[in-house]
Amino acid sequence: MSKNTYVVGFPRIGEQRELKFALEKYWAKKSSFSEVEKVAKTLKQRHWNYQKDAGIEYISTNDFSFYDNMLDMAVTLNAVPKRFAHLQGEERYFAMTRGNKDAVAMEMTKWFNTNYHYIVPELSLEDEYKLNADKIISEYKEAKEQGLTCKINIIGPLTFLGLCKRVDGGDTYELYSKVLAVYEDLLQEIAKLDESVTLQIDEPIFVKDLETTVLSLIKPTYDKLANVSKNIKIAVVTYFEHSCEATKILLHTPIWALGLDFLYGQENFDSLKLIAKSDKTLIAGVVDGRNIWKNDIEKSINILNNIALHVNKNNILVSSSCSLLHVPFSLKYEEKMDPEIKNWLSYGVEKLDEISLISKIFFHSKEALHVNDLERLEANKKANISRKTSKLIHDEEVQARVSGISQYEREGKYEQRIQLQKAKLQYLPLATTTIGSFPQTPEIRHARREYKNGNLDEKSYKNEMKKYIDDCVSFQEECGLEILVHGEPERNDMVEYFGEQLQGYGFSQNGWVQSYGSRCVKPPFIYGDISRPKPMTVDWITYAQSKTDKIMKGMLTGPVTILNWSFVRDDMERSEVSKQIALGICDEVDDLQKAGIKIIQVDEAAFKEGYPLRKAKVQEYEDWAVRDFKLSVSCAKQETQIHTHMCYSEFNDIIATIEAMDADVISIETARSGNELLKIFAKVGYKQEVGPGVYDIHSPRIPSVEEIVTQIHSLLEVLPKEQLWINPDCGLKTRKWEEVKPSLKNMVEAVKLVRETL
Ligand code: GLN
Ligand code: ZN
Repeated sequence: MSKNTYVVGFPRIGEQRELKFALEKYWAKKSSFSEVEKVAKTLKQRHWNYQKDAGIEYISTNDFSFYDNMLDMAVTLNAVPKRFAHLQGEERYFAMTRGNKDAVAMEMTKWFNTNYHYIVPELSLEDEYKLNADKIISEYKEAKEQGLTCKINIIGPLTFLGLCKRVDGGDTYELYSKVLAVYEDLLQEIAKLDESVTLQIDEPIFVKDLETTVLSLIKPTYDKLANVSKNIKIAVVTYFEHSCEATKILLHTPIWALGLDFLYGQENFDSLKLIAKSDKTLIAGVVDGRNIWKNDIEKSINILNNIALHVNKNNILVSSSCSLLHVPFSLKYEEKMDPEIKNWLSYGVEKLDEISLISKIFFHSKEALHVNDLERLEANKKANISRKTSKLIHDEEVQARVSGISQYEREGKYEQRIQLQKAKLQYLPLATTTIGSFPQTPEIRHARREYKNGNLDEKSYKNEMKKYIDDCVSFQEECGLEILVHGEPERNDMVEYFGEQLQGYGFSQNGWVQSYGSRCVKPPFIYGDISRPKPMTVDWITYAQSKTDKIMKGMLTGPVTILNWSFVRDDMERSEVSKQIALGICDEVDDLQKAGIKIIQVDEAAFKEGYPLRKAKVQEYEDWAVRDFKLSVSCAKQETQIHTHMCYSEFNDIIATIEAMDADVISIETARSGNELLKIFAKVGYKQEVGPGVYDIHSPRIPSVEEIVTQIHSLLEVLPKEQLWINPDCGLKTRKWEEVKPSLKNMVEAVKLVRETL
């Protein structure tokens, strides 16, 4: 074992996504739950063994979940919404996540600034909490049976309360005493397991700007929990940012250890002097749990040496910066990747070895290392040098272009542009359009796959896509939509499609990361300078335009979204990478307008996802994110109308930023909340045009004409008709044609009726 090595948590879906497939089979009623349990057992064993084999000292239990750890915590406390109370066991558990015929599923939302989504527990003042520790206890014992004494991971009470919602809208912290009492019961049970049990309590909420009420709860909470039993060693672990305010307080509680992220929370270095004065063990997150790059071992050793200038070396544990849940499993399945690039990467299993090697070097002198370890260190050095110097990464032309950017803004002020656009485009008030994608049918998915695998030649593939576009265009004409789209049949994913055509982008074969439940995503990665060798969408869009006299809207993904949905190189500031992408998109905008496309939509679906966790850092992000959105359309002529789309409903905090992006038209997701969310646009005197989604595309339900008429009228109470566009909430790719056709017909009909009354 490598002394003092720690892993915050390990992914659980399985390196071949075994858990995903087992769950989906069970949900489809093609297997029993015991099959799922069997798979789970194998996976847990395998994952523990990976960590054991790498020599990790602190391995987790209860980092496993059939769906989500927040939900598990809710179940542990018996914080189960009333509508599921009559159900039992796995039936209840999965009804909570997926809904059933009588009850809607619980809400899901993003876990901090990651792409993982957790289930939001619903609390009510009437709740009766009681302990249900079965899962936690049995997982600990399961590891024990394999001869492993592991730590137990749980989500901390303050994070749990901070992320829950109250059914009556009240403050979740009002339930603090009730919830904490059950946590104390839980610790009582855990204390019975062994004479010394390590308990990792995750409190990532401590990395946010905390309200004083929450800050004031830290000391009483951890005084209490740490005093439950001398058998428990508590490690409070934070990640994704610094937690300086909470650190100060935690040092005055009788916990055993504190976990800090030294990669994404630079300010944590400021806490070192204080930590040194305490007797606390420091779990030092130095191996990146959020990115896929090979660790630079020498750099990590430097970080640790800097930490050791203050904190006694024997009190330091070498750790991942957060749970490895956020990176893929293992490079061993990446058979097709360019070996040069593959040699720069490290997934979960490889990171275990890094942690272990770093600890060996840090705690022993180089002389004491085994030849094997010396070789690994040498290989690591070489890989890092190769990455620094590789031609694949450095493109002088791109660098010169970036440093020569003289114009970030497009020509003309909005007021002037919109006049020119309206004169040219001649659209009516309440112009109708869609967000871009139309149903992804089994046929087009199949054609794309066959083409990719080389079983379908380019010509036949293109014909298939064109056929879809033909149908899509003629449906839109027939239905009376005014601004048309081509339907995006050629795209499997709004980021991957562009990534594949940009230089500097890499793709994995098996780099799956859990997004929620059984769902995984395979983010592309940016390894080098980005450029666009040739047009990416022009052929498709111009083909679609050739099929109609109406205006065909070009469809692109924006730089900030491309960045936020990729693994990004860590040898360059994100804001610089984003600039490079923006230039690539800008080239595409220019080619589209030169090809006669008059409206271009640049989607920024993930704009909000990139927001920093700390308010102090928001301005900086907004500045470059807005800058690069604008840069990506900076070549647009005044009369080219630029649209953008954002998949959100909440704009109150960022309305000034949205306005600063200066898109001529923005479409947003508001259908589920009437005109409430639009009010902020009116309140700030937002000038540009807005397309608030008039029906929810996330459900198969077909909205009636009357209901859309009502919705449009309520929008008109907030903004004048000249400023409004009418469209669905988001893209239609996940819907079926049978749902889309009548829904859009009703939408167009509703607009017609409303126009008659105006
Ligand atoms: N144009 C994309 C589509 O319609 C936008 C999707 C999104 O914003 N998520 O699918
Ligand atoms: Zn959307």
